[in-house]
Amino acid sequence: MSGVDPQRLLNKVSPFEEGPLGCRPWLGALSKGRAIIHDPEVGQPVQASRALWEHLWGPIPRGLFVMHLCDHGYCLAPGGSHLVLGSQTTNLLHASLAARTAIGRGVGGGRGGMSRLPLTEEEREAEAIAIREKHLRKIERMPVQHALF
Ligand SMILES: [Zn+2]
Repeated sequence: MSGVDPQRLLNKVSPFEEGPLGCRPWLGALSKGRAIIHDPEVGQPVQASRALWEHLWGPIPRGLFVMHLCDHGYCLAPGGSHLVLGSQTTNLLHASLAARTAIGRGVGGGRGGMSRLPLTEEEREAEAIAIREKHLRKIERMPVQHALF
């Protein structure tokens, strides 16, 4: 099970949606375009999507992967609605199919939305960082919430 505190996890998710699928970008650390978070029990960073999955549905069976249906490794949409478990085979198949579709390009990835070329790892990383920066700027511009008391 994940040793990541669920509140700490949710605090790092943007309150704003990204793209037509309603992705919710990760504002914390990224590795190769994927959301990561330090797990004190493991003693090192783990994939934030795996931590979210475990908090929602329990331990991930050995050999299975948490896959993003939206193909955005930086996305932690509420309720894990963009996540699904898959084997290595389904993982590869999903990556291959996603690379052939417009959705797979990543909505925030510049003007290449309709291109059928798969993103390189560098492009994925750059896209995730650019989206995180965009959302952090959006949050900075939010009006200060008035205290209730
Ligand atoms: Zn998503």
